[in-house]
Amino acid sequence: MIPISSVELGPEVEAEVLKVLRSGMIAQGPVVAEFERRFAKLTGVKHAVAVNNGTTALVAALQVQDLEPGDEVVTSPFTFVATLNAILEAGATATFADIRDEDFNLDPAATEAALTDRTRVVMPVHLYGQTVEASAFTALAERRGLVLVEDSAQSHGATFEGRAAGSFGIGCFSFYGTKNLTTGEGGIITTDDDGIADRLRVLRNQGMRARYQYEVAGHNYRLTDLQAAVVLPQLDRYAAKVADRRANAAALIEGLQDVPGLVVPRQLAGREHVWHQFTVRVTTDAAVSRDELVARLTEAGVGSGIYYPKLVFDYETYRNHPRVRISDVPVAAQVVTEVVSLPVHPRLSGDDVQHVVESVRKILGA
Ligand SMILES: *Cc1c(COP(=O)(O)O)cnc(C)c1O
Repeated sequence: MIPISSVELGPEVEAEVLKVLRSGMIAQGPVVAEFERRFAKLTGVKHAVAVNNGTTALVAALQVQDLEPGDEVVTSPFTFVATLNAILEAGATATFADIRDEDFNLDPAATEAALTDRTRVVMPVHLYGQTVEASAFTALAERRGLVLVEDSAQSHGATFEGRAAGSFGIGCFSFYGTKNLTTGEGGIITTDDDGIADRLRVLRNQGMRARYQYEVAGHNYRLTDLQAAVVLPQLDRYAAKVADRRANAAALIEGLQDVPGLVVPRQLAGREHVWHQFTVRVTTDAAVSRDELVARLTEAGVGSGIYYPKLVFDYETYRNHPRVRISDVPVAAQVVTEVVSLPVHPRLSGDDVQHVVESVRKILGA
């Protein structure tokens, strides 16, 4: 079976982890600080504040905005549930705008139309490894006096006009086990704002600036050195791993672009895609349905994934939630019925990629 994702943690990772383990100091310390320095550099920002997971990163980024009950955060309906859960955890009201099917990301014009006089934060998601049209969101945030929080969980190092995801507003990244870079569980918040970075560091550590000086009611959001050690060697090799993902994506596009009823993903002008997922759309013109394709791929030994099978608010829990404001999002509603992600990760061999291509072509009669 060719898995949809696969992690390679080599001897360098073992050595780094062992070093921390043997030091006897395994909680947050100098290795987390080094991770923060290096990730800030990768993203091209002044500060990176490591936290225990990507959901926490989003929650903390919102918590330092001093939101009041009734304040709204507008986001994408086509995302992982963590985006929505973070908004609710921070006490805000979640509202939604439609996406574009060319990049699966929040549409800036639809986002502007969804703003109300209670909107405080715009939270686009850079889905699958490609950024939103970032310039439109920075312009919108500036024009309307809003905070821009970027859910960058899937887009480490992805760029828009040469600038990285997480450098346009407050960036929130995940280092969960299946992400492009991983600490098992982990997160980071990126910002150029000295004040925000300072507040995040205090919040992360029980609201404590110096020992027993509690500046705010905080939390324990800390990452450990043991976890940070896992990612340092991955940072050394990240550019090469992204290049492997790009090569795999190029081969998949080449092999699948003429299949009737299949829409292959593309990297839009001015953006560098880091191919966290390679997501195709199976339209009604295809020989079989999306779900049939998934079943037959499994039989052919090709792993796939549906990210995401429903709109994020389209569950009983959220439909009846007093702080979730559902709206009409026709593009996203169509896209959830069509998407399927195929393996694109760096551990695929050339033969693996060809097997994926041939299997899809055969099932769809191309
Ligand atoms: C993974 C992910 C998160 C949450 O990150 P965790 O580290 O799993 O908490 C948030 N948003 C998106 C889009 C994600 O893919």
